[in-house]
Amino acid sequence: QAKTAGRNTLRFFDPQMQTAVMAMAALEADLREAVRSNQFLLYYQAQVSGERQVAGVEALVRWQHPVRGLVPPAEFIPLAEQTGLILPLGQWVLETACAQLAAWASQPERAHLTVAVNVSALQFHQADFVAQVLAALKRAGANPQRLKLELTESLLVHDAEDVIAKMITLKEQGVGFSLDDFGTGYSSLSYLKRLPLNQLKIDQGFVRDILHDANDAAIAKMVVALADTLGLSVIAEGVETEAQRDFLAAQGCHAYQGHLYSRALPIDAFEAFMRQV
Ligand code: C2E
Ligand code: MG
Ligand code: MG
Ligand code: MG
Repeated sequence: QAKTAGRNTLRFFDPQMQTAVMAMAALEADLREAVRSNQFLLYYQAQVSGERQVAGVEALVRWQHPVRGLVPPAEFIPLAEQTGLILPLGQWVLETACAQLAAWASQPERAHLTVAVNVSALQFHQADFVAQVLAALKRAGANPQRLKLELTESLLVHDAEDVIAKMITLKEQGVGFSLDDFGTGYSSLSYLKRLPLNQLKIDQGFVRDILHDANDAAIAKMVVALADTLGLSVIAEGVETEAQRDFLAAQGCHAYQGHLYSRALPIDAFEAFMRQV
């Protein structure tokens, strides 16, 4: 922005701006080091279908910062996307998720679990994205049928044909697709129809006030109906109360993710959670 505004506008020293810029630069340096020395952890949040069946998990990354402690993704994923660091980070997430899938495959009570991995647009648009996913699965010895990729509508803005072609190739290998945060972006319905999706994910923004906000309730209802029409499954995220769950169930939703069941947990805690459900 400073560049487009021209040099002259920078005559007035803005200490606040200066501090923000330096904080950002420091965070970027830290993030670069974090990728280099692998300071990340993968957490797992249960995805529950029907009554209390844990059908799978969503893998959610955390940054174990040496000074700042556990940093949530909202504070570093955008920066990782801007700097391209999301590419090596996303690769690590994919490898780790596939290794977890392979480990569960030999454990009878967990062999059915699917793992959903969030994929950034930049990552998906890489020319070798399909090859990377297939290589990660193969290296780990994981079943592609158990891997689900969570995409967002922002992905669909550029090069739709390429996106669809990549999805088809992966789907032929068994990989599933879920459209994350559905309803918050801007995908046209005609486009949606062409995507080889398996699932729509109702954004938690619509779930939060679903009992009190008629618009949110109507949108959630519409997403369920749309999924039904398109032959897709539907899952609601951010489900915190039984009342929200019951309301969604009455609309025809059958899968849920949220604090009502479990938060995102480190692997040991997730496995302990599974033993007690
Ligand atoms: P998302 O993919 O929509 O993930 C759902 C977020 O909602 C997670 O936040 C989860 O912890 C939170 N959540 C789940 N249930 C509840 C609930 O009942 N109440 C509330 N208040 N929150 C709930 P988290 O882990 O902080 O992740 C935030 C976002 O960061 C994710 O949103 C996703 O967009 C991104 N992200 C996380 N991990 C990765 C990753 O490995 N790669 C990429 N590219 N993005 C990631
Ligand atoms: Mg997600
Ligand atoms: Mg989401
Ligand atoms: Mg969300």
